[in-house]
Amino acid sequence: MTNSTFKVEHRYLELPNSFYTRVQPTPLSGPTMVCFNHKLATQLGFHVQNEADWAKVGAGLELLDGMDPVAMKYTGHQFGVYNPELGDGRGLLLWETVAPDGTRWDWHLKGAGTTPYSRFGDGRAVLRSTIREYLCSEAMHGLGIATTRALFMISAKDPIRRESIETAAALMRVAQSHIRFGHFEFAAHHEGPEALKTLLEHVITLHFPHLISLPEEQRHQRWFEEVVERTARLIADWQAVGFCHGVMNSDNMSIIGDTFDYGPYAFLDDFDAGYISNHTDQGGRYAYNRQPHTGFVNCQYLANALLPVMDEDAVRRGMRRYEIAYNEHFKNNMKAKLGLEETEDADMSLIMDTFSLLHEHRIDYTRFFRGISNLHRHGNAPARDLFADRSVADEWLERYEARLQKETRAHDEREYAMRQVNPKYILRNYLAQQVILEAQNGDYAPLKELLKVLETPFDEQPEFEHYAALPPDWGKHLNISCSS
Ligand code: AMP
Ligand code: MG
Repeated sequence: MTNSTFKVEHRYLELPNSFYTRVQPTPLSGPTMVCFNHKLATQLGFHVQNEADWAKVGAGLELLDGMDPVAMKYTGHQFGVYNPELGDGRGLLLWETVAPDGTRWDWHLKGAGTTPYSRFGDGRAVLRSTIREYLCSEAMHGLGIATTRALFMISAKDPIRRESIETAAALMRVAQSHIRFGHFEFAAHHEGPEALKTLLEHVITLHFPHLISLPEEQRHQRWFEEVVERTARLIADWQAVGFCHGVMNSDNMSIIGDTFDYGPYAFLDDFDAGYISNHTDQGGRYAYNRQPHTGFVNCQYLANALLPVMDEDAVRRGMRRYEIAYNEHFKNNMKAKLGLEETEDADMSLIMDTFSLLHEHRIDYTRFFRGISNLHRHGNAPARDLFADRSVADEWLERYEARLQKETRAHDEREYAMRQVNPKYILRNYLAQQVILEAQNGDYAPLKELLKVLETPFDEQPEFEHYAALPPDWGKHLNISCSS
């Protein structure tokens, strides 16, 4: 393919060359296009005639003019332990393009073969985990939560050794930035203040342009505050939809506040506050209810890395933004889920008691909130019948109805707004598992159908009602392996 379509700006290459290594993809054989995100392509400013051309790019068999692949160097804290050896071990940043609307996009090919940072890995990604990443990035986007995106994915004929032999795949992941907290840790702990400052200014120039004109000290301080706030808000968004990331290492934290790196994640079915989605996380470090704190800890790692170029007080002030931003955003999210527009002193205790109730009775999180989004339209049965003991539900409903008395919005107006924040459809683990099995048998249609449903998760979509069902028993406690 020739490239006359894209405006290319590979700005990452402007960083000192310790931040990357040029690496060519190692080709995969016999690629098939699994899924191509045409809507996203339009946003990036192009249209696809022949998906098969792009399968070759996905397989590393062909590059477009202007692509100059690099493996990015970063480090980071994994499960609380600093690892200096990290970097793109199986992904390559191919180039950055600028869309007609001015948005910049990094193109990152995940599963492209080994790099100097692969350590013991084979540089590959398997079909199972690539589908999971594709699905969840698009599901998150559908939910309105900041995330990296999936442009397309391919599968190939090469066998990949994991616990068993699996099918090779690769994902073209796109995002405004692939720079992680771990990039800053690398710069600070291995490269020195000059490199660190260069990285910081690079990120501000490309992703925080509204800060460029501020004097240096203020610019850095405001920037750090914004990173902290975006991180806090992102996690408040995860908590509100019952999303558990599973591997919140600081190398998986995006500097622009995107949900980044989908591995052993899960959306909660039955609500369990201490839910651990990653079965190798035995201590529950990244359990659902520890995510807000872990986000804070990751910001601390970033704060530490910034100390060589920022005033300690400024960094400390930035850190204070975390709790404030988290609490405010979490409260607003939960009030919207409950349909509360007015402010009452007891709102926070209603919110926390609701979580306790859902936890104690292991109530399906998504169906509960969708149920109460239709209380006056369809009656209380959809929410109430989730409880084995209906009297427990009645007690809560009574308290909730009493609180609703303080609202001024009409019932139908409130419930309409609630249905815009309480999804009907969520990417349950068992749904992902089903389409993975079909894809492994060569049928990608179920994957595409599920993606279509998750594109508009707040709409009723009556023809897809079955995707909103409670998980079957086999699908309730799937072990999601970290191996990907
Ligand atoms: P993750 O747990 O996916 O965030 O990955 C942690 C680090 O391991 C990153 O630096 C990855 O690039 C690297 N990595 C993960 N899987 C592989 C693999 N199969 N081959 C090489 N490197 C890998
Ligand atoms: Mg990672």
